[in-house]
Amino acid sequence: MIRRCESALCLDMNGAAVDEVLSRALSAPRSIALEELEWLLSCDDCGVRRLIYSAARAVRLKCGRDVVLPRALIETSNLCAKDCRYCGIRRSNRNIARYRIPLGEIAEIISRVRAEGFDAVAFQGGEIESGENTAYYERILEMCAGLQVTLSLGEQEKDVYSRWRKAGALRYLLRIESSSRRIFADLHPHGQSFDRRVECIRTLKGLGYVTGTGIMTCLPGQRPADLAADIVFFASVDADMVGMGPWIPHPAAPLSASGDYSAEKAVELTCRMIALARLYLHEVNIVSATALEALAGSEGRERGIEAGANVVMPNFTPSAYRSNYDLYPGKAECGR
Ligand code: SAM
Repeated sequence: MIRRCESALCLDMNGAAVDEVLSRALSAPRSIALEELEWLLSCDDCGVRRLIYSAARAVRLKCGRDVVLPRALIETSNLCAKDCRYCGIRRSNRNIARYRIPLGEIAEIISRVRAEGFDAVAFQGGEIESGENTAYYERILEMCAGLQVTLSLGEQEKDVYSRWRKAGALRYLLRIESSSRRIFADLHPHGQSFDRRVECIRTLKGLGYVTGTGIMTCLPGQRPADLAADIVFFASVDADMVGMGPWIPHPAAPLSASGDYSAEKAVELTCRMIALARLYLHEVNIVSATALEALAGSEGRERGIEAGANVVMPNFTPSAYRSNYDLYPGKAECGR
């Protein structure tokens, strides 16, 4: 089994032990121990990584999620009241033109989505809590009859989530960003609350949304133990969907990378998280995130799928808006 050595978790997990953990993971969800997840995240052996990816694909096949599901992504607005320290559309960034796509244009985009044969669409935008914002998305939902709609619009009051659910929204994605309170506090200004975010995720679940959450990898100070705990967190909120991507430093955001940040490491670690989330949770939809593509080109998304993801989100945001939905460098060129 796993034995702790002086430096971190070391690696008395031999080939046979890895095989045993992975076959246990294959047979039932939630059957990997926290310290085993931590070890599998720390391990640099590329043979072990290959075993993890292949076991994750086997689980995906076993739970009937071996078909990649496309959801058309529309980035409705970059207006945001929040000031997250990692994000390029944070309130304090004055170097982007703020937009909200007019409803007439949204109708045209939805027609294109339908014409291209999509049955699922996702609307994502900055975080605004106002009556006008609530009504704007209600109008959009009215246009979406027959489509499965995902919303990703941040923290809102229960009443707002409830109105959007009644107006037809089926799914909601709200990443916790990190389940570590320490890291969450580093990522957000004072006043943005970890507890409220968790409460929102639970509220969404209670309202009957197909509920997604997720995290960013490669954050400053994030250790394998934190990432292992993130996977257990997804289970604790009974997540139906998981979206994870590498954090990509943005020049207009204050969170800065340490010297050892590397794009390849960020892509590999994200793929390993995808695989381990699949192995731990089994029956969830897992997105192969756009940020993988921003770091590794089209191969980035394919690597997410190879690691066990089963959802992709081609970007339908018109080019006139895309460059201002500037979450991280390289974002605007991704997705289509
Ligand atoms: N405001 C909504 C929310 O918070 O859920 C949705 C929009 S938010 C911009 C969408 C996601 O973008 C966040 O959950 C975050 O994980 C991701 N994101 C923002 N800045 C990023 C960055 N610099 N690198 C990678 N992902 C980033």
